[in-house]
Amino acid sequence: MTGFPGNELLKWYEHHQRPLPWRKSDDPYHIWVSEIMLQQTRVETVIPYYDRFIKAFPDVYRLAEAGRQNLLKLWEGLGYYSRARNLQDAARVVVNEFDGNLPSGYNDIISLKGIGPYTAAAILSIAFQQPYAVVDGNVIRVLSRYYGIKDDIRSRPTKNEIQEIADEILNRSKPGDFNQALMELGATVCTPKTPECDHCPLAAGCIAYRTSSTDVIPYKSPSKKIPHHHIGVGMLTDKEGRLLIALRPEENMLGGLWEFPGGKQKPDETIETTVKRELKEELGVDVRVLEKFMDLKHTYSHFRITLHAFWCLLEPENQTPIPNSSQEVKWVKPTQLEQYPFPKANKILTERLQKL
Ligand code: SF4
Repeated sequence: MTGFPGNELLKWYEHHQRPLPWRKSDDPYHIWVSEIMLQQTRVETVIPYYDRFIKAFPDVYRLAEAGRQNLLKLWEGLGYYSRARNLQDAARVVVNEFDGNLPSGYNDIISLKGIGPYTAAAILSIAFQQPYAVVDGNVIRVLSRYYGIKDDIRSRPTKNEIQEIADEILNRSKPGDFNQALMELGATVCTPKTPECDHCPLAAGCIAYRTSSTDVIPYKSPSKKIPHHHIGVGMLTDKEGRLLIALRPEENMLGGLWEFPGGKQKPDETIETTVKRELKEELGVDVRVLEKFMDLKHTYSHFRITLHAFWCLLEPENQTPIPNSSQEVKWVKPTQLEQYPFPKANKILTERLQKL
């Protein structure tokens, strides 16, 4: 794969890179945190979370000893919460087994929770200048256009082909800058819809540009339709106006976060019946479902939900909810909800409650 203008790319990066907070640091811990936060998440979204996180946990020791709930509260709204749990579990391993230093060997670093081949390559190249090529969506777009690869970028053989190209063209004396330069070019110049080819350091040799085919390269086959679930949720209140919240099991999706109890509607069930059944199953109590509090829609990576929240009361009153399917349940005043980490959809419910 000769002829790739790597030096032009590096020169462009030197002058045009965005001043992102993690780029000011060569501390492997900072680079590790940023790479975990950037998984599936846009740079603009990550920046304020990164700044708050590094302020709260400036080194791996502070992260390792932090309370889980404090950690999740800081992560609240960033999504993919297993990233936060894995990051802390890995920090504890780094403290206990690697003397507080993020390991720089591939096998060691990939043994840490939350670090797969992509993240390992990113950290090793950026923090330790090791020759691992990083291939993310931006790199796939740049390289498929530059080399005129028209095959489906969802397919494994195409991904492998692009990884092989990236391995081959990697600048081995500056692998971290080179990887970041390719990703940066994809994020800021070689964008999906309107690439600015006239300002691109790769334009002279780019096949998609020369053949006016940036609108058809890269080709991505249509994604499968994701399922849509209706979720019935109970805003269960007591005589003092407190609400019942439940702590999701650690190992589940959104584990370690709090939520209002509820679950998926079954076929042939009204949504009120769903709420009643779910609260019976999850808390062991009978409830009266009152009027609707609100509906909202939310999209996760593999499914969408419409959440239907209803006010509920215990009926009869003298029952004690038990955590059948959660770690813990708690009665809290609406003004106290702010202290607990909630996933996005539930967070919208808590914010609406504050406005009542
Ligand atoms: S010339 Fe255009 S299509 Fe080619 S890499 Fe640059 S921005 Fe992308």
